Amino acid sequence: MRVTLSPAALSKVFYVALSNREVEVAGFLLGQVREDQVLVIDSLWVGSRGGKAHVELDFNVMAKVVEELEKNGKDEVIVGWWHSHPGMGADFMSAIDVKTQYVWQSLFPYAIALIVDPAEYEKGGISEKSCRLYRIANSEYEAIPFDMTLELDDLSHTGLKSLQRTLRRGVGVTLTRMGEETYKERFTKRTRELIVLALSIWIIIFILLLWALFHVFSYMKKREE
Ligand SMILES: [Zn+2]
Repeated sequence: MRVTLSPAALSKVFYVALSNREVEVAGFLLGQVREDQVLVIDSLWVGSRGGKAHVELDFNVMAKVVEELEKNGKDEVIVGWWHSHPGMGADFMSAIDVKTQYVWQSLFPYAIALIVDPAEYEKGGISEKSCRLYRIANSEYEAIPFDMTLELDDLSHTGLKSLQRTLRRGVGVTLTRMGEETYKERFTKRTRELIVLALSIWIIIFILLLWALFHVFSYMKKREE
């Protein structure tokens, strides 16, 4: 399998990774598959990794992307995913990465995984430590070579339209949606905590009141006797 990464797609990935050095970010790779060649034309940013959300496998976002691609004339498909390893090096895949890539390859047999490290990129530009492509074979990951030169033949197949779309599309399509979800979760949690606190205060006041009433009654009873 030959993989060609368009400079536009890779710069978008690095742009997002470099502006989010504290967190792992992830997204999708868009392009074309022809015979034995995967051509990555564009990349999308889906959100930050970690927590409960598996942005690199968000089927809702995937469905939305596919829908949008179909609207644009079906010449591009999702060809894989990417994520960042800030300060950890791009020269390995974690156990979770391997599992995720396994799911990707069962969904799209030609799927590729791109890993980048913004810190390594700053040190030495594009290298094996800052940018690597992977596939799973026999349940182990292997780095696969790629080139970054679009040949005339690629361009004629891709069409200028696709490249124009890449440049127009920008980065961070669905980040706001992810951000809102986290905010909503945090809000519900905070509200729940406040309700529990208010309830406990009322229960304590109620018990104190009962205790006081009991004593008043027993005192009155003693006096009657
Ligand atoms: Zn990883």
